[in-house]
Amino acid sequence: MVDLVIVVPCYNEEEVLPETTRCLSGLLNELESSGKIGSGRILYVDDGSRDRTWELICGFSAAEPLVCGLKLSHNSGHQQALWAGLEWAAAHAAAAVSIDADLQDDARSVVGMVDAWHGGADVVYGVRRERKSDTFFKRHTAQAFYRLMNALGGEVVYNHADFRLMSRRALQALAAYPERNLFLRGMVCALGFPTAKVYYDRKERMAGESKYPLSKMVSFALDGITSFSVRPLRYIAMLGLLFILISVAAIVYGVSMHCRGNTIPGWTSLLVSVWFIGGSILLALGIIGEYVGKIYKEVKRRPRYFVEAEAGMSSFRG
Ligand code: UDP
Ligand code: MG
Repeated sequence: MVDLVIVVPCYNEEEVLPETTRCLSGLLNELESSGKIGSGRILYVDDGSRDRTWELICGFSAAEPLVCGLKLSHNSGHQQALWAGLEWAAAHAAAAVSIDADLQDDARSVVGMVDAWHGGADVVYGVRRERKSDTFFKRHTAQAFYRLMNALGGEVVYNHADFRLMSRRALQALAAYPERNLFLRGMVCALGFPTAKVYYDRKERMAGESKYPLSKMVSFALDGITSFSVRPLRYIAMLGLLFILISVAAIVYGVSMHCRGNTIPGWTSLLVSVWFIGGSILLALGIIGEYVGKIYKEVKRRPRYFVEAEAGMSSFRG
C-alpha cells in the first residue's frame, strides 16, 4: 500500500512528459522527506496515444521506481483514463491526486491538498482562482456551463476541474458507481464526506496542444448535464402545460374574433387546435419523460448512500 498516487491521464503528451515527470517526482520526494507521506507514486495512464508517450512512460518507469504506467488499448477519453487510474488507486493507495499531464494546474498545490487530507478532508478540490490563462471564449463558456449545471440541479464545484485529492474511503465510494458515462467532477460532489478546497492560479499549457477541442468540450458538457439531471425532461411537461394554458387564451380570443365576424372559415378551429394539440403532445411527452427519468436512475444503479461515521454501533456486533 502506498500513501499517495498521482494519477495523470496522458493522450499524445510526449512533449510535456519529461518536464511533468521531473516536477512530480521532485514534489513526491519533497513530500516524503518532509514526512507528509511515507511513499508516493506517479501513475501515468496512457489513453491510447499515437505518439511516443508510452515509450517515454516505460523509459521513466525503468529509471525511476516512483513512476508507473497503465496503457489503455484505445483512446477512451480523459474521464475513462482517469477512472482507470483512480480505480487502481482505490485498491492500492491511501489517497490519490488526479492532475492533467500538461501541469496547467499548479502541482505545488498538492502540498496543501495533502495537509487538508491529514486535517480530515476526504476530498480536496483544486479550485482555480482566476482564468487569465484561458481564452475569452473558454472562460465564458466554462463559467456559463457551471451556472447551467447548478441551475439544473447537478452539483459541481465552481471553477474546479479534475484536479483533486481523494482519500481511500472516497476512492472506494467512487469505485462503487457502476455507470459508464463518466462526469467525475459531478460524481465526486455527490459522494459527500468532509471536503476542503485549495485555491491556485491556472497556468498556460507547457507544450503541445490542448487535447480538448471545442467538439469534445461540448460533448463533455452535454454528458455532464445528461448524466446528472432529469430536469430537462420535466421542463418538457411544464412547457406542455404552458401551451395548454395558451390554448385557453387562444379559445377566448378565437371565439371572440369569430363572433365579431372578423375571421375566415376554419381559422378559429385551426388556431385553437394547433395550441391545444401542441400542448397535449408536449405534456404527454413530459409524462413519459418522468418515467424515462426513473428508468434512467434505476439503470445507473448508483449506490444509495455511504456511511461517513458511526456512534455506539459496536453494541450491534455483540
Ligand atoms: N486526455 C486524455 N484523453 C483524451 C484527451 C485528453 O487522457 O482523449 C488528457 C490529456 O493528456 C491531459 C488531460 O486529459 O492530461 C486534459 O487535456 P488538455 O490539457 O488537453 O485539456 P485542456 O486543459 O485544454 O482543457
Ligand atoms: Mg490542459
